[in-house]
Formats: sequence, C-alpha cells, structure tokens
Amino acid sequence: MSTPHEVLRTVFGYEQFRGDQEQIVSQVVSGGDAVVLMPTGGGKSLCYQVPALIRDGCAVVVSPLIALMSDQVGALRQLGVRAAYLNSTQSSEERSATERAYLAGELDLIYVAPEGLSRPYTRDFLSRGKLSLIAIDEAHCVSQWGHDFRPDYLALGDLAELWPDVPRIALTATATRRTHEEITERLHLQNARHFVSSFDRPNITYRIEPKNQPTKQLLDFIRTEGVVDGEQATGIVYALSRKSVESTAAYLVKNGINALPYHAGLDKRLRDETLHRFLREDGIVVVATIAFGMGIDKPDVRFVAHIDLPKSVEGYYQETGRAGRDGLPSVAWMAYGLADVVQQQRLIQMSDGDAAHRRSQSAHLNAMLALCETASCRRQQLLRYFDQDSGPCGNCDTCLTPPKTWDGTVAAQKLMATIWRLDREYRQHYGAGHLIDILRGVSNKRIEQLGHTNLSTYGIGTELDAAGWSSVVRQLLASGYLETRGEYGQYFLTEAGVPVMHGKVPLEFREDAKKAGRSSRPTR
Ligand code: ADP
Ligand code: ZN
Repeated sequence: MSTPHEVLRTVFGYEQFRGDQEQIVSQVVSGGDAVVLMPTGGGKSLCYQVPALIRDGCAVVVSPLIALMSDQVGALRQLGVRAAYLNSTQSSEERSATERAYLAGELDLIYVAPEGLSRPYTRDFLSRGKLSLIAIDEAHCVSQWGHDFRPDYLALGDLAELWPDVPRIALTATATRRTHEEITERLHLQNARHFVSSFDRPNITYRIEPKNQPTKQLLDFIRTEGVVDGEQATGIVYALSRKSVESTAAYLVKNGINALPYHAGLDKRLRDETLHRFLREDGIVVVATIAFGMGIDKPDVRFVAHIDLPKSVEGYYQETGRAGRDGLPSVAWMAYGLADVVQQQRLIQMSDGDAAHRRSQSAHLNAMLALCETASCRRQQLLRYFDQDSGPCGNCDTCLTPPKTWDGTVAAQKLMATIWRLDREYRQHYGAGHLIDILRGVSNKRIEQLGHTNLSTYGIGTELDAAGWSSVVRQLLASGYLETRGEYGQYFLTEAGVPVMHGKVPLEFREDAKKAGRSSRPTR
C-alpha cells in the first residue's frame, strides 16, 4: 500500500502537503470521520482524493456542482486516476457503463449529485460494490440558516447508519460557528475530528467604496487595478440581476475590456463556452450573477469586483475568495450604495419564507452592511464574523487609508427627527431621496405640494451634500437605528433608534473617501 506522501508525489506531482491536509488525510485513511473547514483554494480536494487512492474500494464524492463534474473527473483521469461521475445530464448508456465499472471494482472515485444519493436505487447499487469513503463537498449546503441551502443535503444524514463502516469527510469553505454545528449535527458527524483552518486570505486586498456611477467606477477600477504588467488581468465581476450583467458586460466591451456575460438565463452552450474560455484564456473578465464560480478552480484570478451588495458575508467571502488562489496579490473591490440596501430589504420582506427565515436573511444583510460601513480593518471584521481573531491587516482600504471619522450625533438627530415627525404627525413615510431633500431645503414640486417646506426640519441640514446625507443614512441602517419597509423602501426608526434621535447615543461616522464627501464640517 502506498503512503500518503507517495500518492501526493507520484499521482498529483506535489512535494508537500499544505496546512492541515496531512492530518486530515491520515484521519480518513485510518477510517475516521472528519469535518473540514478550509477557505477556497486551501486544497480541500486532496483531503479526500489521496485517501481514495489509498483505501480499498471506491470513494463516493457528493457534490452539488453538476456542471463541473465532467471537468473534475477529466482532470483526475489525466493524472491516471480512475474516476467517473453519475448525474442527470448523462445518457443511460453512460450511466450503466459507470455502474458496471464501479461494480467491477475499476473505479477509485465516483462523483454523484446529492439528489442522486438520496435515491434508493443509487444507494442499493452502491451497496453492492465496495466503498472506501464518502466525501461530502460544499457541506454548508445542509445548513438551512446558511445562504446556500439544498434540501437534498438533509438526506445525507442517514448515510452514517446506512454504511456505518465507511468513513465520511464533510468539507466546506463556509465557516461560521453555526454552520459548523449544523454540518456536524445534520450529517451525523458527532464522532468526527474537526479541522478548522485560518480563513485569512492575506494576499487579497479588500476595498469597498460608495457607489455613484457603478459602471464607470468599475471601468476605472479594472483599468487601474485589473492590469498586471501592462496586460489585462483575469477577473470576475458580480452583479445581482441578469439585466445588469448584460448591460455591464456590454459597457466594458465597448470600452475595450475583454468581458463576457454569464447568468443562468443564457443558453447552456454559450455558458459552457464562456466558462471554458475563462478557464483556458488569459485576461478574460466574466460579468456574472452568483450562478458563476462555485467550485471553479482558476488560480490566477486577479480581481473580484462586486457592483451590487452581496446578500451575506458568507457569500461575499466565497465570491471574493475566488481571487488569488495562487497566493499572488489580488483585489476584492466593491461599490455599494443606499439603493442596494433598500432593494435587498425589500426582497427580504417580499420573500415567501416565514418570519424566522426573514429574520435570518435580515441578520445576514446587516452583517454585510456592517462590513461595508466599518471604519476599522475589513479583514479583522470579516474574520471575526467567522469567529477568528486577527489584528489590523495593513492590506485593506481602511488600514491603508484610515477613513476620517466625524461626530455624527447631531446629523443623525436631524434625519431621525424628520422621519419621526412625518410618522407621528402625518403618518407619512418616505424614501431617502425625499428625506434628504427636506433636510437640505431643496424646493421642488413634490416638496411644495406636500407642504413639507413647513416642517421644522426643512432646510436644517445644509452642512452636508446629498452624498454626505446618503452616507449618514447608510451608516444608520448599518447600525440598526433605521430600517426600511414596504415596496418603496420607506424609512422607519427602530426601537434602538429612538435614543439616537434624542441625542443620547454619540455616533462616529466614517467620512467616505474622496467621492461622496461632505460639503463642509457639520455645524453643532
Ligand atoms: P479548494 O477545494 O479548497 O478550493 P482545491 O482543492 O481546488 O481547493 O485546491 C486549490 C489549488 O491548490 C489547486 O490548484 C490544487 O491543485 C492546489 N493544491 C492543493 N494542495 C496542494 C499541495 N499540497 N501542494 C501544491 N498545490 C496544492
Ligand atoms: Zn485591514
């Protein structure tokens, strides 16, 4: 029998294991269970591929990424590994060929989709052969609370009882304490050893800036930071909607960037071709919805840009984690604005889920907002979200150019008093644009018609420009003192916001870099 090192060297061509890999491999080789929390690019695959080649029998790899199975299996076959997959995209001939090979003991690894493994047919057939281990990839999909729940994962829990002698290893790049607990519990991994790597990605620089002209800001970013040695670098741009994916890609192309759109609404052949070009060519910028990227192993992605706010810190971490898997300097850049927040709060309120589901989505969004609005180290904040400690990193925008802060207590009072009056005295609720117009004493038809020039707060906020007020609104939302409700995103004070309105909570606001500045210091 070969040793793990021999397999690593002779099959995969690597000299050394990385991080926890060696211990994880030895745990599984010896027949124990493992739960592995390792960031994207950390090298999770080898943790089950090496044991699969050492233990007797065939390893079952559960992966939700059907689109990538043929690539993954192809890559293994090139290394001489006897791998195959079973999924719904195959013809029945292909399936039965794979089944025969498995039963004849001719396979080292077989990839299956989670829905496949929940079917009695697949289970019976696998039981007739010899299993070496079960690897459950993207194991966070079992978490209902998480951002990527897949009901089929719940059915994987009883594999422990079905095949008690087969070691199981669950792997994920998502690592909140809560997800970790859910994986352990729902996949019946109570006897597993746990391997939690550091989630820091030191080669990624994090930058988040206020959004004003997103596509233009994106182009500037790509032209300045998306270039390596004078050549366009490979990158991914994430947008929320299919429409903005297409218009953004078109805008970039018009401006000389080699950009391609990718979203689930595009023809399958076109999507496959885009994925193929992204993986094989240099300097392609894919503009995509989050449908793009899970499990894609392209080491030299130099930047990941978000022109819309991700729904959660987990999502943000996973998406930005696709940058710099080769360890070279890379940038995670994002532009975000008030409209993002309002839109997402609206989506949450309109979603079908129950109240608990909506609360969890709101909590996810609020954590994301807090990351955007923090005046201290982004990496520290990000890692703290995953229950990991670190000092200020020196490699994020807030560390590199510490934002100035200013005493926003009075500004917050002015805004909140306006919202409060309109609510108490008129039962009226408005979006940010109108509230800011009132504060700045703008005179327009709507303000006149509504008689809002008579409000006592009309024109008391001329010390800030519209962008400055927008920043105040965002920071109050991020701190949970304000919330929006309803289809039009009208503002309300939260319970916690009431003492803020009374000036009882001193507030330090970050002064947004360059663009959305204040017109002068606020008056006291
Ligand atoms: P993950 O699934 O954790 O995102 P992968 O398993 O895809 O990561 O590995 C990321 C990259 O690192 C791959 O290109 C892989 O070949 C490489 N890699 C993994 N382990 C090692 C190692 N011990 N030595 C060198 N390269 C490695
Ligand atoms: Zn930092």
